[in-house]
Amino acid sequence: MQRVLGILISFGLSVVVWAGETISEGWLAKGTKWETPFYVRVSGKDGPTVVITGGIHGNEPAGARAAEQIRHWSITRGRLVVIPQANIPGLRDGTRFLPGEPPSRRDLNRQFPKTKMAAEAHGVLGKELWKFIGDQNPDWMIDLHEGYDFHQINSKSVGSSIIDAKGKAADIAVPKMLAAVNATITDPKKKLVRLRYPVDGSLVRAAHERLGAASMILETTFKSQPLSKRARQHRMMVHALLTHLQMVDSTSQVMLPAKTEALRVAVYDAGGVGSNGPRELDRVLRGMPATMARRVGAEDIRNGVLTQFDVAIFPGGSGSKQAAALDARGRKAVQAFVQRGGGYVGICAGSYLAAANYSWSLGISNHKTFCETIDLPNIGRKSMWYRGPTATVKMELTAEGREILGDRKGVFEVRYHNGPIMSPMGVKGLEAFRPLAIFRSEVARYDPQKGTMVNTPAIIAGEYGNGRVLSISPHPESSVKLHALVANGIRWAGRR
Ligand SMILES: [Zn+2]
Repeated sequence: MQRVLGILISFGLSVVVWAGETISEGWLAKGTKWETPFYVRVSGKDGPTVVITGGIHGNEPAGARAAEQIRHWSITRGRLVVIPQANIPGLRDGTRFLPGEPPSRRDLNRQFPKTKMAAEAHGVLGKELWKFIGDQNPDWMIDLHEGYDFHQINSKSVGSSIIDAKGKAADIAVPKMLAAVNATITDPKKKLVRLRYPVDGSLVRAAHERLGAASMILETTFKSQPLSKRARQHRMMVHALLTHLQMVDSTSQVMLPAKTEALRVAVYDAGGVGSNGPRELDRVLRGMPATMARRVGAEDIRNGVLTQFDVAIFPGGSGSKQAAALDARGRKAVQAFVQRGGGYVGICAGSYLAAANYSWSLGISNHKTFCETIDLPNIGRKSMWYRGPTATVKMELTAEGREILGDRKGVFEVRYHNGPIMSPMGVKGLEAFRPLAIFRSEVARYDPQKGTMVNTPAIIAGEYGNGRVLSISPHPESSVKLHALVANGIRWAGRR
């Protein structure tokens, strides 16, 4: 029987006992602009203490995202201490530095005790981190970072490497961590390599020299790789270490707590997705209370991560490329997720992906798209999905749309970029869709497109098995004014 006991102690430290583990959380630099949460899991069984930090550099978000997932891993021995977002103001601004600090104090990873210097850290956050980590008496110190390029391709960058302080313990662990992550990378030049030595003033070097911890920096590469993939690489390396230390028996796919009341939202950000969609959705999701959002990639989906979520969002880009990246196994996983009761939100490309008229589409929504290829005099053969560059069109909610998406009356503007023109497909056994919004203007590139968009559905709702499917043709996530509409749609899909 699992026992859950919540106690609140002073200093804002909360403690929960869950299936034999004691999980506590609290704040560092509380009450300052740098305040940041920490999480401690104590197994109750003897074993090493592993400290993991993410987000020391704010422009390296994969480490912060991965640490935020790793903190939910249940451990079987020792202690796991996670500070997922060390530099929250930097993460918010997307900057490497501590915003507003002078040049000598702005790089958090140079503020820890240097070799042969006084044993003190600098700055409010540096001092707090150093004291807290010292108090943990860590056996292992793992700091998650990112580089701008693959080290094997561009040696000026430390991207895709493990940089460890010398030591017997690391000599055994690092090759295992590299083997685990490199098994998932096909391009030999993009595989991770072992580098030495952590820079003077870094947390990892100080933890090794002053605290005697086996210490390392894990570096992924942000160049042309989706966030989900980089976070996954961090998870795999940390998981390989914790497996080596016999501290975990779950998989590296755990992204969320075993139990939560929060709405759990997966945002697909990998093959076939443009870079703006996930970023704009991050803004929508940040504004939604009691919501836990994670980026997921095709590999994650094929490995079954969707079972942890209430809603999956497929943003703009190319529907056929998303389908190809998912491949048959990934598409089946998405269909099964919705069938079992998961919510699906497709935006632009994601609404092509949901459709029923392509060999590659999911067939979870009873709509087809206007995509014929037509011979045009003096122009040539053209596919009718293409209507030109991004444009602003007019849209109006239906009565049901106003119930589900918010009571917005009349015609309003929304960004449009080649989203599907949706009409009934008439698949037997699949309920007909209901229009929630209608286009009240149109864009057309070619003559046969004229009149085919205005007064057709812009947003439709349907059911597939036990799940709800929302297909949005335009880009309301691009307008801050329409974020509430998108949030309402996500909640509807997640049955909230
Ligand atoms: Zn860094």
